[in-house]
Amino acid sequence: MTSRPLDLILVSTPIGGLGSGRGGGVELTLSSLLKGLVDRDHRVRLIAAEGSQLPEGCEAVELLTAQGLDQPSWQHLDGESPVLIPRAGLLPRFLDIALNVGAEADAVINFGYDWLPLWITPHVSQRLFHLISMGAVADVMRDQIEALASWDQQRLAFHTARQAADFRLPQPPRVVGNGFDLSRYQFRQEAGGPLGWAGRVAPEKGLEDAAAAAAALGEQLLVWGLREDPAYAEAVEAMVPTGTLQWRGFLPNAELQEELGRCRALINTPKWNEAYGNVVVEALACGVPVVAYDRGGPGELVQSGQTGFLVEPDNVSALSDALKRVPELDRADCRTWVEANATQEVFARRVEDWVLAGLSSLP
Ligand code: UDP
Repeated sequence: MTSRPLDLILVSTPIGGLGSGRGGGVELTLSSLLKGLVDRDHRVRLIAAEGSQLPEGCEAVELLTAQGLDQPSWQHLDGESPVLIPRAGLLPRFLDIALNVGAEADAVINFGYDWLPLWITPHVSQRLFHLISMGAVADVMRDQIEALASWDQQRLAFHTARQAADFRLPQPPRVVGNGFDLSRYQFRQEAGGPLGWAGRVAPEKGLEDAAAAAAALGEQLLVWGLREDPAYAEAVEAMVPTGTLQWRGFLPNAELQEELGRCRALINTPKWNEAYGNVVVEALACGVPVVAYDRGGPGELVQSGQTGFLVEPDNVSALSDALKRVPELDRADCRTWVEANATQEVFARRVEDWVLAGLSSLP
């Protein structure tokens, strides 16, 4: 498949095992990339928390596990927070393994959004690369990402240009997008379903605005995702008429796409600079148009007027107005966009190009 099979070590997020849902979008990124890289004949090893499940079709991937405590998630720390590493933390254990097996590998690709792997990169001979999964959510992380970019920007890739714009980079960013196994998403033509929302139930995801837009239309909103912040979930529920929010829980991907695909539209209302927005593309893959704030990754993924509508951020009445216009859209266009721009094949090829370019510029 490729001119040069690579020996790659992938390092998972030190927050939850692969398949737990605690790693958020990084879990899906990793799962589709593992499959995409194996299909392109690369040798792939994955370092992940004990209890991690390799996705179907990834039997050729060697799983190297470590036990330890999760890192605190940066998006829930104060922007001025120092770097915290718990006693017996997973992160240093991941690095122990990565530096050991990575000594003989072509490259180590880190998916955890953390300071230590970035900081260590210029100090070791192992070729560490980092797919940055969030914007600049904390000062110390921004500084470290910018410092590494000044040393060798080729070691960094981003999901979207909007995400990368959070950082001062010497060169234009390497944007790799994200990838999805389209065989797992069924296209659905029927357009008369309910409104949906999917994501971690946490303040940066802005569920309250989607709920308000649904309530303004006198409709229910189906909500899928981990209730990461139960107090926030209850506060949102109290803001809208009883019965507006239909909590569907965190579903495995197969069930999620089955239910999501029946929606008339997905509402996506991030309050932060969302790096990508997996649920946006998953909805599109099922033929579900997305009405989103023109902010962060979703603002780059939705083709307004074709695969959904982009509206002014934080403007709830613009959201409900756009939702009324969804019947103008052709659901087939949503699927077509994903096929051209966000399959696991396209994504694996972009990641491969990034790593090969980085390796070829090494002395
Ligand atoms: N997700 C899921 N089941 C659910 C709701 C969400 O598997 O019931 C997954 C969804 O498929 C997506 C991830 O959770 O891959 C959320 O990723 P996203 O990029 O939207 O947000 P993040 O959590 O990374 O901020």
